[in-house]
Amino acid sequence: MTTKKHGLNTICTHTGEVKDTQFGGAISPIYMTTSYPYMDVDSKRYPRYFNTPNQQAVAQKVAALENAEAGLLFGSGMAVISTTLFAFLKHGDHVVLQNEIYGGTFNLIVEEFDKMGIEYSFTEGIEPIHFEEKIKANTKLLYLETPSNPLLSITDIKAISEVAKRSNILSIIDNTFASPINQTPLDLGIDICIHSATKYLGGHSDISAGAVASSQHNIDIIWNKAKNLGGHLSDFIAYLLERSIKTLGIRVERHNLNAQTIAEWLENNNAVEKVYYPGLQSHPTHHIAKKQMHGFGGMLSFELKSEFNASEFQKNLKLIKPSMSLAGVESTILMPSLTSHGLLTPEQRKEMGVSDNLLRFSVGIEDVKDIIADIENALKI
Ligand SMILES: *Cc1c(COP(=O)(O)O)cnc(C)c1O
Repeated sequence: MTTKKHGLNTICTHTGEVKDTQFGGAISPIYMTTSYPYMDVDSKRYPRYFNTPNQQAVAQKVAALENAEAGLLFGSGMAVISTTLFAFLKHGDHVVLQNEIYGGTFNLIVEEFDKMGIEYSFTEGIEPIHFEEKIKANTKLLYLETPSNPLLSITDIKAISEVAKRSNILSIIDNTFASPINQTPLDLGIDICIHSATKYLGGHSDISAGAVASSQHNIDIIWNKAKNLGGHLSDFIAYLLERSIKTLGIRVERHNLNAQTIAEWLENNNAVEKVYYPGLQSHPTHHIAKKQMHGFGGMLSFELKSEFNASEFQKNLKLIKPSMSLAGVESTILMPSLTSHGLLTPEQRKEMGVSDNLLRFSVGIEDVKDIIADIENALKI
């Protein structure tokens, strides 16, 4: 379908756009119609068939960005993740998942899979051997996520895709944190690439959406499940997502630059115990990040020294907003110990490397000097 003939920013701006044949307007018109002709047409259009013009426009754009044959859009990241997993897994099958994965995905697995008779194992680490050692005769797929949340660990995408290929099973990646600007996993041998488009693809903290990109064959299989489960994106939100992705390339470039600058500044700050950012030389998996990422992303985490109180620090911030979610143009910060990891005991958190003084920082596109001044000021109070 789409090939990566153009550069990423040109794809962001143009690929997939719906031609306005009536008035010749420059951008995709919004088609809110739920009722289309069914006689003498190539494809019967209906929102829950995931094939309305505005849905297809963005699906093509995401597919082109991921260097994939095809894509599908959903109403949330979890709608894509659940639909894709259920499309390829049935009663009696087994799946191997990376130990550090998004909390919502973890909940989906542990709360729903037993009921459906689907077996699962979490890896004990992020090395290829940790995935390989969990594969059984009934394993159907491997699931990874890199950079991970909240410690930004980097899994070797190519090595894991080779583990999957050797065992003749599918590989799925959650590429949300990197965005297709920083990382294109299908080029590294992964079969299916998933995004919570609520994050960088949307990028303005105002829409909920999800996307998947893969071969036409895999997308057909996912589509077959999707039309039964529902979970499609409204055409209006698809239009907003198309609008957002037009600036994805330049937004992510700025997120990368700001995050790198702030990570280096934090690393040299006396109040900071540790900084987790794949772009730092000191990051344990920096060498893998350098190999597989085009940029290191806008997400970082840091731990304040014990004489500081992360909760007080957050309250002192004026520009950076303590908020849930991530990847908007505005800087936001949260404490995993109070949110994603809040139900664990302090000991369990410590074991995972998620200390109570850890802050996860979604670096925005503001002027970096203002972000740094805000942190500096909040530490002084
Ligand atoms: C937010 C997120 C999801 C889930 O996406 P929703 O749009 O909230 O359903 C999945 N994976 C990662 C890495 C995320 O950050």
